[in-house]
Amino acid sequence: MLATRLVDTDDIQTVDATMPVPAPGEILVQVEAAGICGTDRHLFKGEFPSVPGTILGHEFSGIIVDGATDDLPLGTRVTCDPNNWCGECEQCRQGRVNLCSNNIATGIGRDGGFAEFCAFPAARAHALPSELDSLHGAFCEPLACTLHGMDIGAAKPGERVLIIGGGVIGLLAVQLAHLAGAQVMLLTRSEAKQKLGLALRADLAAGSEAQLRDHWKTGADLVVECAGVGATVAMSPRLTKTGGRIVILGVLPDGEQVPIEPFDLLFREIQMHFSFLNPFTHERAARLIAEGTITVDPMISRRITLEEAPGAIAAPALDGEVRAIVVPGT
Ligand code: NAP
Repeated sequence: MLATRLVDTDDIQTVDATMPVPAPGEILVQVEAAGICGTDRHLFKGEFPSVPGTILGHEFSGIIVDGATDDLPLGTRVTCDPNNWCGECEQCRQGRVNLCSNNIATGIGRDGGFAEFCAFPAARAHALPSELDSLHGAFCEPLACTLHGMDIGAAKPGERVLIIGGGVIGLLAVQLAHLAGAQVMLLTRSEAKQKLGLALRADLAAGSEAQLRDHWKTGADLVVECAGVGATVAMSPRLTKTGGRIVILGVLPDGEQVPIEPFDLLFREIQMHFSFLNPFTHERAARLIAEGTITVDPMISRRITLEEAPGAIAAPALDGEVRAIVVPGT
C-alpha cells in the first residue's frame, strides 16, 4: 500500500509500505480522509518529538475492513482518537489521560492515517454515520482538542470571547463559543479567514490588535489562543479584561520562550490556562460532526493524493488555506 513516512527530520516520502496487520484488540481501516495539521509540519521540521520512519497522519477517518467488534462491525465508518493512553500511569489513574506518560499516539509515535490502510486499537475508534461526507470525519480529532480547550475556558452566554488564529482550531473554537452563547470575535490577519470566520458564526472579525480595540476597548472575558505563535501568546494578556481568562491551545516550537508579566497577571487576576489534546472529548466531537452542529465543509481548502502529501507537509500552508485533506486511493 502507499503511505507517507517521516523518514527523518526534513525527510518525508510517500513509499510502498507493508500492509498493516491488526494486533489483537485492533481494527484495520481503509483510510478515507486525513487532514494535514500544523503539528505534521512541526514534526517534519523537528519542532515536535517524533519517531523516525513513522507513517504520519493523526486526523483521519475510514471504513473498518478487518478486526470488527460487536459494536463496530465491518463496513462501519470510524474516526480514530490517536491518543493511546495506558490507563495505569499516575496521570491516567487520576483521570488526566491526555497527560499519560506512556501515550504512543497514532500518526506520531506509531503508524497513522497518511496511508491507504491503518491499524489502531478498536477502543480508540468512534463510529460515524455511513451517510456522512467521507471527508468530514477528518475534523473529529481537531474538534476534540478544541472542545477540551473550550471546556477549560468555560465561555458563558453573553461573554466576549476572542479567538486568535483563523486556522482549523480557531474556526472550530469560533463555532463552539457561538454555541455557548458568547459574543465572538476572530482575530486573524488573512481577510479570507476573517470572512470565513464571520460565515462560521463569529460576530466580529479583526485583522490587528488596533481593529480589535475599535470594538472591544477593555478586551475579552476569555481569550483563546489558537495561532501557535509567540507574538499572539504574548499579546493574549493585554487583550484580556481584568479578571478574565486565557486558554492557550496553540503549540509553540519546543524551547521557544515568550515574555509574560506576572505582576500584570496577578494584579488583574488573569487566569492563564493551557489545553493539551482531547481527554474524553473525541466522542462528543464525533457526535457534533455527525449531527452537522459544527460546519466543516468550508474549511476544506484542497484535496490531495498521498503522492502529493510530502510536498504539502514540507511547505507552509498555501495562502488562505485552512485544511488540506489527503484522500488515499485517488
Ligand atoms: P494553522 O492552520 O497554522 O492556524 C493558525 C492561524 O493563526 C493561521 O491560520 C494564521 O492565520 C493565524 N496567525 C498566525 N500568526 C498570527 C498573528 N500574528 N496574529 C493573528 N493570527 C495569526 O493551525 P491550526 O491547525 O488551526 O492549529 C492552531 C495551533 O493549535 C497550532 O499551533 C497547532 O499545533 C495547535 N494545536 C494544538 C492542539 C492542542 O491539543 N493544544 C491540538 C491541535 C493543534 P492568518 O494568516 O490569518 O493570521
